[in-house]
Amino acid sequence: MQRTVLLPGTWLLLLTLVLAPLRGDTQPPYELDPDARRCYQLRHSDQAAAIRLADERLESGGLAPPDALVFEACRAISHAIMGNADAARAGVDAVEALLASQPMPAGFELRALSNAGATLQLAGDITGALQAYERGLRAAEREDAWEAQVTTLINIAMIHGDELAAYEEAEELFRRAAEINDANATRKAVLSYNRGLNLLRMGRREEAPAQMELALATARATGDAVTAARSEAELAALSAAPDARARLGRLFAQQRSGGDVSGAARSAVLQAQLALDEGDTGRALADVERALGLLPDGAFPSERRDALELRIAALLAQGNWREAYRTSAGMHDQQWRRLRAIQLGSIARVQATLVDEHNRDELVLARQQGALSALEASHERRQRNLAIAALGLLVALALGFFVYQRRITRRLRSLSTRDSLTKLLNRHAAGKRLDAMVPARVDAGDARAVVFLIDIDGFKGINDRQGHGAGDAALVTVARTLAAACSADAVVARWGGEEFLVGERGLDRQRAAEAAERLRLAISGATFGGGVGTVTVSIGFAGAPVFPPAGGATAGAASGHWPDAVILADRALYAAKRGGRNTWVGLWGRSGAQAAIDDVLEDPSAAIAGGDVLVSAGHPGFAWPRGAPE
Ligand code: GH3
Ligand code: MG
Ligand code: MG
Repeated sequence: MQRTVLLPGTWLLLLTLVLAPLRGDTQPPYELDPDARRCYQLRHSDQAAAIRLADERLESGGLAPPDALVFEACRAISHAIMGNADAARAGVDAVEALLASQPMPAGFELRALSNAGATLQLAGDITGALQAYERGLRAAEREDAWEAQVTTLINIAMIHGDELAAYEEAEELFRRAAEINDANATRKAVLSYNRGLNLLRMGRREEAPAQMELALATARATGDAVTAARSEAELAALSAAPDARARLGRLFAQQRSGGDVSGAARSAVLQAQLALDEGDTGRALADVERALGLLPDGAFPSERRDALELRIAALLAQGNWREAYRTSAGMHDQQWRRLRAIQLGSIARVQATLVDEHNRDELVLARQQGALSALEASHERRQRNLAIAALGLLVALALGFFVYQRRITRRLRSLSTRDSLTKLLNRHAAGKRLDAMVPARVDAGDARAVVFLIDIDGFKGINDRQGHGAGDAALVTVARTLAAACSADAVVARWGGEEFLVGERGLDRQRAAEAAERLRLAISGATFGGGVGTVTVSIGFAGAPVFPPAGGATAGAASGHWPDAVILADRALYAAKRGGRNTWVGLWGRSGAQAAIDDVLEDPSAAIAGGDVLVSAGHPGFAWPRGAPE
């Protein structure tokens, strides 16, 4: 039976190590049995044939130990690719037994261990895979085989990133691999690509482009089309150029037809990210589904995680809390089950090594072969190391999962309350804060909460002239400047596209006017990058409640809660725009006024004329425009 295998980046790499001659080998290369070579070629295209061939040769016996080792390893990984986890694990045990009892030519041990790591990882035994890789790494260090060290470090790093979401640890391992490469003046496209991807997942976005550029150049130079397309996709997304979406679309089609399923899924996820950045949540969700459709359950954990996190962000942007939480719960559940399976696997492995009958049989066999004392020592060491490693891993995993879950929860919470571009509170969260800030009744004196609506002047022109990216950067600068100009307990929020809201408590009319002027000056005095230069804003404000009772809290209910004050502030903002921009206008309800709030909101002119609403303005000689807006 033939099976198409969906290989993530790891495997592309793993499989190259297995038979490639190692630079640095001092002895003449071992002449491998031609059938063993053929087995390795078949394992990609026809695993059943590879297994048959290995069965035949291993049964007929008489093989030299290195050939037997390669047949066992080939059979084990073929089983793993076909999804026969038990047979794969049994194969790895046989490989281990051979390594323990027979001397092997240089390079064979580390290759066999690397292959065992790949086999166990495919079979879902992450703990076993890590242990095999780590032993492979030590063998490579002993033999001074630096290419094998690099490859193994990458494999270990990728388990940390893909399976454990331990991105910091992964970066450290990638860094070590890169260091070894640099020392030998070589490069590996897969290394730079995966390191860049890991940096993105860690949120170190600025460092990713350099790695991706390096990956692309190296991949092109070595004819590695898969990595070239993958890094090109990342670079397109990072550039956020106008044609990024179209480029990703082309790469997606190319990757899917070329069989790079995980790469194609990633390109769809990147398209979803762009759509979401542009506020097109429908398109983002469609892209996410396209990606998930390519990723089978249980495979590609990190690719699925990226896609699901985007789905959550898009659903939250749509205000679809229920589905967002459902997706997030499902994601946690999957991650939890995965990690739990890893823990169970490690326990099972330790127990198996300690009590397995099979191991005892091996011992008898080895004794007959006269290798007992050496084996006993190494066996004991292995058991001890294995138990310690497994225990350590259990603790690390429990801790890792706790940290992971806390990070996701924090991220989810901030996604639901913060605007993703400016990191200010979003409208929904600001509303909650205003609920708490604005009292329904007020104490004596005329101090109230005040809402300021702040709209950038001529913002469309910035987008048109300097581009959307510069526009985004200007929004971030405005957000930071406003936050810095406000008191610590102020509500500072992104209210809409290029409109911000500030809520301050305890201001009277005069202090509100001073605050408006302070905000206006803060923005007009700030420097904006990207060729934008300076930016001005228009501001409208209103006190909340709009009409407090004349005698303070004991005198009855106020009229006009903060949502009414926001509408009034919007009227004032409109007047500031008509009054020439780069200025502010405030509307202040007189305490105890009996005006009907709905009429005042509809058109404040009458209440202004009647003295129930007082106007303040930044421009001297400002006159309230006649007639209702719109
Ligand atoms: P005015 O002085 O009258 O306020 O003029 P304006 O150009 O600022 O106002 P208008 O409402 O016509 O334009 C606002 C523009 O803001 C339109 C929209 O494309 C842009 N915009 C909204 N949200 C974003 C965003 O997140 N990023 C960028 N770059 N532009 C945005
Ligand atoms: Mg504007
Ligand atoms: Mg506007």
